[in-house]
Amino acid sequence: MRSDTKNNPVTVDVKTGRIDYERIRADFPILDQQIHGNRLVYLDSAATSQKPRTVINALLDYYRKYNANIHRGIHALAEEATAAYEATRQKVAGFLGGVAPEEVIFTSGTTEAINLVAYSWGEKNIKEGDEIVITEMEHHANLVPWVILAQKKKAVLKRIPITICGHLDLTHIEDIITDRTRLVAVTHMSNVLGTINPVFEITQVAGRHGALVLADGAQAAPHMPVDIKQLNVDFYAFSAHKMLGPTGVGVLWAKKHLLEEMPPFIMGGEMIREVSFDRITWNDLPHKFEAGTPNIGNVIAFKAALDYIEELGMDNIRLHEMAITRYAIQRLSELEGLEIQGPLEPTQRGAAVSFTDPKIHPHDIGTFLDSKGIAIRAGHHCAQPLIRAMGKVATARASFYVYNDEKDVDALVEALIEMRRYFGV
Ligand code: PMP
Repeated sequence: MRSDTKNNPVTVDVKTGRIDYERIRADFPILDQQIHGNRLVYLDSAATSQKPRTVINALLDYYRKYNANIHRGIHALAEEATAAYEATRQKVAGFLGGVAPEEVIFTSGTTEAINLVAYSWGEKNIKEGDEIVITEMEHHANLVPWVILAQKKKAVLKRIPITICGHLDLTHIEDIITDRTRLVAVTHMSNVLGTINPVFEITQVAGRHGALVLADGAQAAPHMPVDIKQLNVDFYAFSAHKMLGPTGVGVLWAKKHLLEEMPPFIMGGEMIREVSFDRITWNDLPHKFEAGTPNIGNVIAFKAALDYIEELGMDNIRLHEMAITRYAIQRLSELEGLEIQGPLEPTQRGAAVSFTDPKIHPHDIGTFLDSKGIAIRAGHHCAQPLIRAMGKVATARASFYVYNDEKDVDALVEALIEMRRYFGV
């Protein structure tokens, strides 16, 4: 329970679903500072989110009060740490719409979760001539492992293109996904365009061809309700650090029968049942995939992040972000020539808003905004093929979360106007 909440329980306006931004902001100690003499306006949550006090305290509590290794000790501290670690797994299982906890594998992040699937499931199941389908808007984390696997196995890598509006172009989906397709790997929400992809529709096509579907939920899980059963995917990956949790923690969710058939990815302690020099048997799920000492403290603190999100309500977070996104797109559109990437309709997208200025390089935009205390991301956003398909070299990206509101959008737009004056364009 967030202790600070007890003092002021009003965090969400029940009529509008809008989050009480000032209250939320006060929960994030890092935001209470000046950067280069200006109020910090943090618009880089798609890269990593800030952490509320409850998450920071949960981490401190673990190290101060019950730091111990898990699953193996028989002393009080080890039992407490094990219970807290497993409580996060339970919480994640609920967060995903009520999946089985043993289907929740802790990894170091989305990247490792996807690599786990590529190395374990992919190594075993992909054969020469098989097809792996990805999309043109993938983050390198959901692209590089498949490129490498396809090369190694002499498999065919196919991709779903994007429309000029930044949606997946599903016109020829029936030609792209075929009976040779073994896996479709698609981002649930683009980190560059903000596009929310029709993952369920894709699973319908994939299912008709016996192909599995992996969704990269790194950008979706922090910002919208995720019900695994409704999504109908086989694998789902996301990172704690983008959803108010600590770095170094991610989740791979996969169907139990797939995890049971998959060989372990990393070998060592805890993932075995019996070991001799010539025969090894694997531990039960989920331990089979969690070799070695995991990121115990950070996994435990991740639960505090999920509690925080639950308290706000994921539906409220989504409503709040749609309102900010609508406002951001409207205000950014006031700047002549500024190009906003991705869908313009907030119901079709998340709160990561990429844009380019015809005369000013995104890195210069980022540097100028930083001088005003505004943190954004500039670059290729680990999605080089997408940036090329968009005909760009880079974009600037402002991304919003629970602690942002319209005032932050105003600060961004005013700084961009000042930037244009500064550069004389
Ligand atoms: N996929 C997407 C869509 C992302 O935005 C990111 C992070 N930028 C990743 C995967 C990789 O996440 P991580 O670095 O936490 O492993």
